[in-house]
Amino acid sequence: MTQIFNFSAGPAVLPKEVLQQAADEMLDWHGSGMSVMEMSHRGPEFISIYQQAVHDLRELLNVPDNYRILFLQGGGLAQNAVIPMNMVGRNAQPATIDFVHTGSWSGKSIKEAARYANVNVAASAEAGQFTSVPHQESWKLTRDASYLHICTNETIDGVEFNFVPTVQGDTPIVADMSSHILSRVIDVSKYGVIFAGAQKNIGPAGLTLAIVREDLIGHALPICPSAFDWKLVADADSMYNTPPTYGIYIAGLVFAHLKRQGGVAEIEKRNIAKAELLYAALDADDFYQNRVAQDCRSRMNVPFYLRDESLNEQFLAGAKARGLLQLKGHKSVGGMRASIYNAMSIDGVQSLVDYLNEFAGR
Ligand SMILES: *Cc1c(COP(=O)(O)O)cnc(C)c1O
Repeated sequence: MTQIFNFSAGPAVLPKEVLQQAADEMLDWHGSGMSVMEMSHRGPEFISIYQQAVHDLRELLNVPDNYRILFLQGGGLAQNAVIPMNMVGRNAQPATIDFVHTGSWSGKSIKEAARYANVNVAASAEAGQFTSVPHQESWKLTRDASYLHICTNETIDGVEFNFVPTVQGDTPIVADMSSHILSRVIDVSKYGVIFAGAQKNIGPAGLTLAIVREDLIGHALPICPSAFDWKLVADADSMYNTPPTYGIYIAGLVFAHLKRQGGVAEIEKRNIAKAELLYAALDADDFYQNRVAQDCRSRMNVPFYLRDESLNEQFLAGAKARGLLQLKGHKSVGGMRASIYNAMSIDGVQSLVDYLNEFAGR
């Protein structure tokens, strides 16, 4: 098999070592005679897998004791409904949710939340075609908002928050970290809820992670499906119904792998180096263009355009011939996108940079 580098935005590249271990354990997990897929989620084998995964994630993100780690289903998108259904019940009705609109994903969150509460778009980067995070001084936050929702890394637009917002009073911040969780050190205590679909930096699609401060649990609206009621899920240690067991197992292998790499601080250093290498090649002259403001450029998702877009197909074909896969940009914005998640090696980024230089005739 020839060496390839997969720049997909998600589902995305996973560490080779993790896939190899999963392959080795596929038919017989630790002498149990069973595949993890075949185990009862209530049996001692799977419970140990689950507990280790939660333990390692808690350690990696330094999750405080008053936060619960929940494994859910439904993807990141379902959380756009699940979160309002679990949170607005704390407030007088109708509640208001504040949003900062920084791109495609926060846009989806706003639309979905509007079915459950009033939404206030406190700031929007739409006029600038989502190429920056609006400065906090310009945000028009609501007094007594139920919560403030932000998408801290816009996967399609390539815009990443480089700060944690300050909020009035005790308004919780809800952060969609789907595409950059575990890529940088974060202070969990600054957030009420952190959520992420697994298929970027964690594991297979289908698993959804929520890290929820305990006092926000227990307020679900009566219309909230019980499988998504944080209280029921938390009380059952994410086993209120059958959890995505294989996804949790792979996520656990990814967490253990990250720990062996030196944890999130170490991986963040590598991610900075990878991003700097790639942006430098894009910025070298005007053959390529990344339109995002320098201080908001994502370290994970790097959208770019060829100055001469008639070369797009030729660029992609040449990349594919070199084993550089899935570089086509999202259909809504066109152009190219290189996603360089935790599992993308610096060698992969270097190969892409070499190709960018060659294609530009440098
Ligand atoms: C991928 C992604 C999601 C999750 O999408 P699903 O397809 O519902 O899992 C949510 N938010 C962001 C920012 C994402 O990148």
